[in-house]
Amino acid sequence: EYSDQKQMLGHPQGLFYLFFAELWERFSFYGMRALLTLYMVNVIFEALAERDFATAAVYASYGSLVYASTVIGGKISDQILGMRNSIFLGGILMAIGHFVLAVENDIAFFLALSLIIVGNGFFKPNISTFVGTLYEKGDPKKDSGFTIFYMGINIGGWVAPLLCGWLAAKYGWHYGFGLAGIGMLTGLIVFWRGIKRNVFGARGLPPNEQVMNKKILGIKQGILVPVLAVISAPLIALLLASYKSIATDGIFGGQNIVNVIFQGIGIAVLAYLAYEMYRATLEERKKLFVAVLITVFMTIFWGFHELSGSVITLFAARNIDLEGIMSAAQTNSLNSMWIIILAIPISMMWTWLSKKNSNPRTPYKFGLGLLFAGISFYVLAISGASANANGLVPFAYLLLMYFLLSIGELFMSPVGLSKITDLSPKRIVAFMMGVWFLSSAFAFQIVGFIGKQLAIESTDKNVGGFDTLAIYTDGFMLIAKYALAAGLIVLVASPFIKK
Ligand code: GLN
Repeated sequence: EYSDQKQMLGHPQGLFYLFFAELWERFSFYGMRALLTLYMVNVIFEALAERDFATAAVYASYGSLVYASTVIGGKISDQILGMRNSIFLGGILMAIGHFVLAVENDIAFFLALSLIIVGNGFFKPNISTFVGTLYEKGDPKKDSGFTIFYMGINIGGWVAPLLCGWLAAKYGWHYGFGLAGIGMLTGLIVFWRGIKRNVFGARGLPPNEQVMNKKILGIKQGILVPVLAVISAPLIALLLASYKSIATDGIFGGQNIVNVIFQGIGIAVLAYLAYEMYRATLEERKKLFVAVLITVFMTIFWGFHELSGSVITLFAARNIDLEGIMSAAQTNSLNSMWIIILAIPISMMWTWLSKKNSNPRTPYKFGLGLLFAGISFYVLAISGASANANGLVPFAYLLLMYFLLSIGELFMSPVGLSKITDLSPKRIVAFMMGVWFLSSAFAFQIVGFIGKQLAIESTDKNVGGFDTLAIYTDGFMLIAKYALAAGLIVLVASPFIKK
């Protein structure tokens, strides 16, 4: 089953089709993300004094839903559609979403985000699992296959903000969004060619044709799923558009419907995990506990890391001296640039340390990853002291900040992904992968909370300089302290977690 595959550079040929398909999908995802916050502040919510608050709220809802949808997309793929159909369905919905964004209209805006949310739910989990199916269980090549795949993700994430940001600045927002849509279509064409050339063998087909043809309410499931997916988009759009807070104070103070929904999901997930732990054997229970801890640490890390598309983009626009270097949207490429530079050296470092029998255990790597995140925000926090007469700080601070944050990411994200599958009892491994993706979803609730705290209220469209500098740097200092404290706690606790 595995020897049927033609090899290329020592890997199954299929890897390179998935690599380019995901590269283009992430091109569209991050090209759009680089423009999203600035587009909301400058266009959608332009007329509001509290436009930063509204932007932070919608950004958080979008981010949470775009990652939570992967849980449902993964499940439907396992049971009905299979990976190939899911990837096509997801890719087409995402492409339509990007093209709808190119229409300048508020309703189109929320509908477009919803299409991307539903599309990503079908695309993202399935293209990642597809990579895994190319390798035999325990194949040592699998890890390097995933490293290559992670590079593809970040090549998309590096180039897209540069190009879409440039188009948006020179010709208008909608050209930037349009290019993202073209990127997504390119990804689908690559994937389709892979199928035509038969590089995937029988992988990724629906579990069986009966399931696809099974009728519910007289409609075949294989047709019902895409129909429901499309119908769900306007409903999600309604959720996104309900960004206003339910109450000004009390337990729901400053929170909107999506915030409350995610608190409900959080409680449900914890209750379900408690039930699983109760059912598990002692051995399983310990492993499950560590898997939960890893997910919690990851949520904290992404909660700070994912500020890059929101608060840090606004900080770049308002308080970094970008003159002659790049636009604020384009600064979104810096994280991916560093990942491309650092991914291979860091994975070589782990291999080298393993040979010397001193590869740090996962909890230590996680503690160090959080410390790197803390130091990275500390760098931004102290940048204020170097501000020029206009309240703008040198670009070098941002470059250094992303360098440190990206090291932290490489200490955690790839390591955690492989650990979570080892640690979960077999019967709930898919569910635990869902919980892993939910860590990104919950992280966006943190992003939203911080974004609202650091929202600048102003009627001045060009607000920035010394009016905003200290608000941001004080916020970054607080984030740095929280991240450093979390990192220290993990390091101190790691001997116990290791056991
Ligand atoms: N940058 C990675 C990707 O796009 C991980 C992002 C995340 O999980 N929050 O795949």
